[in-house]
Formats: sequence, C-alpha cells, structure tokens
Amino acid sequence: MSQYDVVIIGSGLGGLESAYILSKEGYKVLVLEKNRQLGGSLQIFVRDKAIFDTGIHYIGGLDEGQNLNQSFKYFDIMDKLHLHKMDMDGFDLISFEGDPTEYKHAQGYDNFVEQLSQQFPKERESLKTYIKHIQEICDYFPLYQLKEDDAPMFGTKYLDVNSRDFIASITSDQKLQNVLAGSNPLYAGDGTKTPIYVHALVVNTYIESSYKCVDGGAQIERLLTKNIRAMGGEIRNYAEVTKIVEKDGVVTHVELKDGEKIEGKHFISNIHPATTMNILDSNKIKKAYTNRVQSLENSSSAFIVDIALKPNTFEYRNSNYYHYKRNDVWSSMHVTGSAWPDGYCVFIPKSSRSDKYADSLTILGYMQYDELKEWQNTFSTIPMHNDSRGQAYEDFKTNRAERLIDEVQKKFPKLRSAIKSYSSSTPLTYRDYIGARDGGLYGIAKDYRDPLKTFISPKTKIPNLFFTGQNLNMHGVLGVTVGAIRTCGEFVGQNYLIKKINNA
Ligand SMILES: Cc1cc2nc3c(=O)[nH]c(=O)nc-3n(C[C@H](O)[C@H](O)[C@H](O)COP(=O)(O)OP(=O)(O)OC[C@H]3O[C@@H](n4cnc5c(N)ncnc54)[C@H](O)[C@@H]3O)c2cc1C
Repeated sequence: MSQYDVVIIGSGLGGLESAYILSKEGYKVLVLEKNRQLGGSLQIFVRDKAIFDTGIHYIGGLDEGQNLNQSFKYFDIMDKLHLHKMDMDGFDLISFEGDPTEYKHAQGYDNFVEQLSQQFPKERESLKTYIKHIQEICDYFPLYQLKEDDAPMFGTKYLDVNSRDFIASITSDQKLQNVLAGSNPLYAGDGTKTPIYVHALVVNTYIESSYKCVDGGAQIERLLTKNIRAMGGEIRNYAEVTKIVEKDGVVTHVELKDGEKIEGKHFISNIHPATTMNILDSNKIKKAYTNRVQSLENSSSAFIVDIALKPNTFEYRNSNYYHYKRNDVWSSMHVTGSAWPDGYCVFIPKSSRSDKYADSLTILGYMQYDELKEWQNTFSTIPMHNDSRGQAYEDFKTNRAERLIDEVQKKFPKLRSAIKSYSSSTPLTYRDYIGARDGGLYGIAKDYRDPLKTFISPKTKIPNLFFTGQNLNMHGVLGVTVGAIRTCGEFVGQNYLIKKINNA
C-alpha cells in the first residue's frame, strides 16, 4: 500500500494550495520540489541586503469581502500576511514617450472612472461603459468570485473576443485605449491574440484593491508550507521528478532524479502540461492530446533587472510604472534587437525598513525567447540571476540591462546615482529554474481565435493524474488559486469546496 494519497509535483502556488486543501480534507499529501527553494514564482532572493521578488510584485482582491481575501482566510494566512495597500488614486501609472502625463489606474470602480475622467474629460461615459463591461465579463466567470457553479467555462461568452478590438469598440480615443491596456505585461497581452476575458479578470482584481507584500511574496509560501506541515503534509525540496510511471491505466509512482521511486494513489502535476507529457511514461494518452499540448504557444517572456539601491537615496513610490515608447501597447512584446526595449515596467518593493526610501527596484521589459537563440542549448540550475552561460551571454545581459536602465533613468533621473548593484535574468533563467516553457512569463498563452485549444482541464485521460497551476485556467495569484479549487474540486467536489472557502 502506498504511503501517500496524493503526490504533487512542484511546489508553486498551485501545488501548495492543492496540498493545503487536500491535507485539510484528510488526504496524506507529499509535495516534491526540484529546487532548494520552495514556492516557484513566489520565491524571493536577497542581494546586497535588498529583497527581490521573482514573480509576485502586487496582488489584487485582498480587501475584506473580495475573492482572494476570502480564499486566503480559508488557507489561514490572511491575517498573518504583511501587506501594504498601494496608492488608491493610481496604483498603476501608465506613460508614453513625449507625453509627461502619468495616466492613473485607480482602486475602486468609481474612483477608476473618476481619476481617468480628470485626465480624459470627454471620455467619462466611455470609462463608465468600460468598467461596466469589465464587471459584466467577470460575472461570466463565477469561480473567480467564489460562486458555486457547475457550468463548464466553455460555453462562456467573451472567450472569442479580442481584447484590443473590444477596448477600441468602447472608445475611439487611441490614447485612452492604450492607457486602459497599459498594464498588459500583467497578462502578456498580445493584440493579435489575447481574449478580453483575460484582460478583464486580471485588471478587475487590481481595480478591486491592490497590495504589495512587505519584504516580498515568499511569506505566502512560508505560511502555506507551515500550515501544510501542521496538518501532516510533507514537502521535500531537491526532489526533481524525472518520470511519471503508468501501469494498467493508472499512475503507480514517480521517479526522482536520483532513482528513488515514490508511490501514490493520486498525482497532481504543478508543472507545465507539455513538460508533464515529456516525463510521462505511458501510452494511455493519445498522441493527438500530447501533440496539442506540446504545440501550444507560451506567453511572452521578459528580461528583468533587479537593482539594489544605496540606502536613503531613492524615495519609495506606492505605484507601479508602465512606460511605452510608442502609442501601441499591444505590440510592445514583439520589438527585438536594436529597437529594444519598446517599454518597461518598474516595480518598487515595499521594505519594512523604511516608509520613505526604497531598498530595491525591479525593471521588467518584454523579451522574445528567440533573442536568446545562441544560448538555448545551455542549461543552468543555479538559482535566479546567477545563471552562468559564458562571457557572450554575460555581455548580452549587461548590454540589455544598461539599455533598460537608460530608459528608466529618463523617468527617474536620480536612478543611476542611487544604484548600489544590479543583476539580471533572461527568459532562459525562468526556463531552467522554474521550468517555464520557452521562458514564458505566465505559461500557455490564451488565444481568442481558438479559445478551447488553449484550455487545459485539471483531469487527464489517466484517472489518477491531474494538473494544477497557472496553465490550467489563468496565471497570477488569483488565477492559480481558482485553478487549485478546480483541481481539488475533482477530489472533494467543487461546490463543496467553494462553500468551505466562503464559510472560512
Ligand atoms: C516575472 C513575473 C512576475 C509576476 N508578477 C505577478 C504579480 O505581480 N502578481 C501576480 O498575481 N502574479 C504574478 N506573476 C504570476 C505568478 O507568479 C504565477 O502565475 C504563479 O506563481 C505560478 O504558480 P504555479 O502554481 O503555476 O507554479 P510555478 O511558480 O510555475 O512553480 C512550479 C514549481 O514546480 C517546480 N518544478 C518544475 N519541474 C519540476 C520537476 N520535474 N520536479 C519537481 N518540481 C518541479 C519548479 O521548480 C517550481 O517551484 C508573475 C510571474 C512572473 C514570471
């Protein structure tokens, strides 16, 4: 008899949340993580005494009564998180080269309309229409509001509507169209494919409320792992799963890199479905399914510069900055080579050390995986930002980091003199360390032209093998949490679970 009811491959947010839910429901759970650090994109790293987030810069929906607040109460972490509310009147600021205005995305639906109406006085009615549509679109996805529902998502209106066209149908003001979509690096928004529901679900959660995690998002991982262990769940690091073995129609065990075999009754993969198929030793899954999953495009990747700042030199700002060189936010990700970067985002972490000054700053610019072609066959498992792939790679990184800093310096003239040190990461860093296919920021890219193709069910053809994580429904803290509810709903019943969460 196997020791574990459920073996979970990967300790990303989805893996940990699934482990929590199933442990709470009495299952004996084991989580296997390939890296030393748990949490996947929840993890932080420290350089020059400054803390850097790797994949959680801010979180939405955390006010009382909102979806993530309620979910985090269920996970018993809400009252233990150290959070900082962002600027009510402009948590995100969108700007464009040659235009000194910083356009504001404000918290609260009315406030969102109000703040942007001050900047676009003729567009108040369009802004009201936009917000009405955002709310209406979210209503088509009841799980995102923790509403019980058995209806499959597939019948949903808005799956096949293009974001760029939808926003353009609300206002003819091109600047406003770009402002409304200006935070699209949050979902790697591509004008040629991103469906409007992706835009709506993501921006809605931040308009509801926006928070930073003080001293980083790893506190979510720490609290979840503590709670899982307290309920008898086990979590192992340095435990890379290299094979998932099926016999007589069910998965019997997984094999680790060192050859150890771990048996279980059920298995949940928190890693990319295509990678899961690569390590699955079975002929039960049809070739057509495997081919479909392998051929799905992943979302755009990014180049990231993490800057440690000299003490008391750079004032903390309670907003994120999204800046574009051109008035076309939807194509920014496709700009490569000498024209790069077309824009950037700046995230300023909130440190517990000071309210006035920032310890660090992160700059993110879209980057196509192909820009790293030369080094695609190199592999590095050294933790974030230390990946070494030879001098040419280092030179590439330095060149791109300097270009990005030059751009940001235009907005923050004091930046260069405040830099103590910096490090950078490329799409290859994310590919190798987190297991992100093609270094994609958010997993499989959704496409309005063929929406069903990009949906991954939590169930597979093998009855005791499941998926969870950002490739399921959507990425981000909210998307992954909803994914964990769907996955664990397969074990205990979705509506039963939603009731429990709502009663927490
Ligand atoms: C740069 C960046 C910025 C982001 N910013 C935000 C933000 O501000 N707000 C927000 O809500 N979301 C943000 N996100 C998205 C969010 O971080 C992710 O969607 C979410 O954390 C993904 O969770 P996951 O469960 O899919 O697991 P992942 O984080 O993908 O983790 C998967 C885990 O599986 C492990 N693993 C892989 N292969 C194996 C194997 N063979 N055996 C064992 N373990 C394995 C990996 O090491 C990793 O720990 C950001 C993402 C990125 C990349």
